[in-house]
Amino acid sequence: MDKQMIYEKLLELVKKENVKVDEMLKNHLYTKLGGKADFFITPTTFEEIQNVVKFSNDENIPFTLLGNGSNLIIKDGGIRGIVINLKELNNISTDGNTIVAQSGARIIDASRHALKENLSGLEFACGIPGTVGGALYMNAGAYGGEIKDVLDYAFVIDKEGNLVKRLASDLDLDYRTSNIDKNKDIVIEATFSLKPGNYEDIKAVMDDLTYKRESKQPLEYPSCGSVFKRPPGYFAGKLIQDSNLQGTSIGGAEVSKKHAGFIINKDNATTSDYIRLIEHVQRTVKQNFGVDLEREVRIIGEDPS
Ligand code: FAD
Repeated sequence: MDKQMIYEKLLELVKKENVKVDEMLKNHLYTKLGGKADFFITPTTFEEIQNVVKFSNDENIPFTLLGNGSNLIIKDGGIRGIVINLKELNNISTDGNTIVAQSGARIIDASRHALKENLSGLEFACGIPGTVGGALYMNAGAYGGEIKDVLDYAFVIDKEGNLVKRLASDLDLDYRTSNIDKNKDIVIEATFSLKPGNYEDIKAVMDDLTYKRESKQPLEYPSCGSVFKRPPGYFAGKLIQDSNLQGTSIGGAEVSKKHAGFIINKDNATTSDYIRLIEHVQRTVKQNFGVDLEREVRIIGEDPS
């Protein structure tokens, strides 16, 4: 199927204003990195997603899910096939002590919603700049809390395009990982089980965590958060700091002077700058301390031709 035919078929499946061709991904991602997607679609219903998955299966066209791009680096050559972004599916509602959030909602907004409803449990997520879908995928966590602690179940669209309920225990949630990628599930909605709390107490915790984050993290620049996982027995940031790498830059990418575990997009970095700097940090830490830094952040897409 040629590009024009794929475009015409997508217009039958998703509203015209929600289908873009050769869309620059860096404009949609927190990192402000990444080349073009052949097709960038923002479905507005679960049925639209199901139909796109079935179409891509039938025609053998790859598709890729993007959240807010706060834990993902997309290469400068972009992504072939269909990129699906669920930002239009962002409703959050309350049902007793549970909160139901569509996967394109920001996890920060789910946390604020819980506060408004005097529900406790999502305070840890108040500064994580990802979507609900991305947070489940990564089992996002901070300051002693993680998605695993509060997720009851999720609705996903499986690789055949079926709508399926997955209990939290089905998702193999572990430190910054789940089986969502392996199963090729698309998370579309999550139900969080919370506890009744007191507004002022919940707000005090969130204010404290926000203060800690703002004082330690370089939030004034685009970045992908902590680049590396915590190596057993060490802290990635400390190893990088002790290797005198803070302030080191390649092109527009720089190891943050404020938080050694972050690499910031300081000045219109390309993904290639970013990746070269990540590799430089890994090599230097290995030479100095013999420790392998494993990336937390995913790198996907094509090298530029
Ligand atoms: P993306 O980066 O867009 O995608 C990540 C992965 O999830 C991709 O593989 C994508 O395909 C997949 N995905 C996205 N949506 C779906 C979906 N609906 N269904 C299936 N797969 C999907 N992380 C923490 O855990 N704790 C922190 O404290 C934290 N602090 C951060 C601070 C900063 C300043 C930044 C930039 C990042 C931080 N992160 C943190 C990392 C990041 O915000 C989280 O991992 C977040 O959960 C990623 O969500 P996203 O929507 O941005 O996902």
